[in-house]
Amino acid sequence: MSQVTVTNGPATPPVQPTRLFRSPVASLSSKGANELENSEENSLKELTEYVFATMEKEFCFDVVNKPGRKTVCTCLHDLGEQINDDEVDDCAKALFLFCKLEFAERKRIVKEWIRSGLAAQLMFQGQQRETSTRVFLFPGSTTRLICRNALCQLIGYGKKSWKSIVELVKSGNDPVHGLKGKTGNKLNAKSQGLMHEFFKDMQQYALPRATKIVRTQMVDGVNTLVELREEEKDTIELPSSMTKRGLYNRFIGGLGWKIQWDNKGRLLKKTEMGEEQKHPARQEKTLMMRMPLRRL
Ligand SMILES: [Zn+2]
Repeated sequence: MSQVTVTNGPATPPVQPTRLFRSPVASLSSKGANELENSEENSLKELTEYVFATMEKEFCFDVVNKPGRKTVCTCLHDLGEQINDDEVDDCAKALFLFCKLEFAERKRIVKEWIRSGLAAQLMFQGQQRETSTRVFLFPGSTTRLICRNALCQLIGYGKKSWKSIVELVKSGNDPVHGLKGKTGNKLNAKSQGLMHEFFKDMQQYALPRATKIVRTQMVDGVNTLVELREEEKDTIELPSSMTKRGLYNRFIGGLGWKIQWDNKGRLLKKTEMGEEQKHPARQEKTLMMRMPLRRL
């Protein structure tokens, strides 16, 4: 009887790449401006703790080539031994400001970071490795330098985002949002349908844009002919008495909700209205009383 030889795998499993910390910048950046404004204190605390945590690691971890692999760079750890708490606070504040920026603006700043880093790298060519890799400014500082992996770790950038911007810098192009001209990922079909209905209904209050009306004086100087330029016929405008917040109130009110804001536009309270108030006719009446339409 022939013997079957079972080949065992290696006695120890291969070393797994370290799971990278996830920077709070990624999740904070996806929040709306108001939400960020309201959570400034907690966000700054979270960012400060994160900056301290990254500096506790002895080595920087690769983000750009083989994510999760340990590199020989110790820039963040070294920085942790040199800087004081105020500088860490400044970094957290800079990261918070970074989160508050629009997507395109964030990309533009990273592009500038990379541009100056690559320029510095050229100047440092031939010098020792440490000098030629620590070419990016530590957020919130104008003198402290870190490597690209450390910067990626701090600003929550992964391999794909970083490399796409490096490509832009090299090609001299401007960043473009991946969804430009397409429908957003967060689009909710139900909300979209409701809003579509709402705006269709609001069309009855709209008029062509006042600034785009061309008035042509008739020859006898008495009659005035009002015409629209050909290309502006599809553009209509709601009366200026209808504010964005007013419209939102109207929209949400129609769905049976009542919203209260403070004078800075921050959400204070959201209450569901009773059945009686939800009645469309009553709702319409109340809203119309609250929102007098300008005579046009
Ligand atoms: Zn480093």
